[in-house]
Amino acid sequence: MLNRRQFLSAATGAAMVLGGPRAFAPTYDLIIRGGRVIDPSFRLDAIGDVAISGGRIAAIDATIAGEAAKTINARGKLVVPGLLDIHTHTARSAEGPGLVLQDGVTGWIDAGSQGADRIGETIAVARSAPQQGRVLINIGRAGILPEGDTMDLKRADVGAARAAIAKNRDFVVGVKARLSRDVAGANDYEVLRRAQAVATSFGLPVMIHMGQTISPFPKLVDLLKRGDIVTHMFAPPPNSIIDDNGHILPEVLAARRRGVWFDVGNGQTGHMRWDTVAAIMKAGFWPDTFSTDWNTESHETGVIDLPNCMSKLFGYGMTLEEAIACGTVNAARIFPLFNDRGTLNVGAPADVALLELREGKFEFLDNYKNKITGRQRLFPSATVLGGRWVPRA
Ligand SMILES: [Zn+2]
Repeated sequence: MLNRRQFLSAATGAAMVLGGPRAFAPTYDLIIRGGRVIDPSFRLDAIGDVAISGGRIAAIDATIAGEAAKTINARGKLVVPGLLDIHTHTARSAEGPGLVLQDGVTGWIDAGSQGADRIGETIAVARSAPQQGRVLINIGRAGILPEGDTMDLKRADVGAARAAIAKNRDFVVGVKARLSRDVAGANDYEVLRRAQAVATSFGLPVMIHMGQTISPFPKLVDLLKRGDIVTHMFAPPPNSIIDDNGHILPEVLAARRRGVWFDVGNGQTGHMRWDTVAAIMKAGFWPDTFSTDWNTESHETGVIDLPNCMSKLFGYGMTLEEAIACGTVNAARIFPLFNDRGTLNVGAPADVALLELREGKFEFLDNYKNKITGRQRLFPSATVLGGRWVPRA
């Protein structure tokens, strides 16, 4: 990592090599000027400038002197680290990665769209994505099935999943187990046990899709190890993370204590109901990460985009800074490929999301057509990926 002075001397050196100082040589490739820069990774919330060179954050300061090949006026906008969405189905279609990039998403995980039989299809999309994209392999070898991924227990094939991961270590970053009664039926516990057997043999996390399971949730969550992820944490009963008296289950508290992550996974059906959200938020059990459970239809559903999902808990007491942390630095901690992401630290890859925080009356949908009204909503405005400006279409 270069500090600003080192960076400037390096830039001057380059100019000399190119044939002496140039009167108007740009100091930076890009400067984003005058936005409200919010970066929870180092507790920054201030009006300022962000300068980028060579695809990395070169400087961040109240005012940055110097020229740039391109300047973006961000006045009135939020300038935050590029957003990370850890539960999507971006890799189900070739156009997915480009679409979520428009929403400010500079890193995504496809959470189990495919299993061992056709994992190559999602990996091909991830490989050609403009931003970082990786996949979780569905423990059901045929991936997501309308009749239920692992209703037939033979589909939870440990050998097939291990072989598929061994061939694709660079793109498979975990194992997904969908456990609802319409997905796994009474097999939920055994499916998770097998997913864990696959994951632990490679040192990878398991992500479980919780909610409406046949097995009691405590029995399932007890199988999760440090670094595993529970998605759909706001799923209503049966088998939510909270009891009828408003107490978070002790096994859930224990899971968080041992390092299991809890993720929103907005989605469309069965994952989020406002009364359950209210009870869980009131109990003080807040999410580590937001995620969309995105697919190409999401603009027509209550999901819309990650900034919209990040706006849904403002009415339950979450601050703007906390919401941005859930969509950036917190997500970066979960998957090693995001180690240097989710931050605007000098030297970090220059992935930046420009957002608008609008004030007014905004309707937010759960998965049951219930609406709440909020006073603020985040909208995507533009994205910078690896220092490259991506205007919103
Ligand atoms: Zn999903």
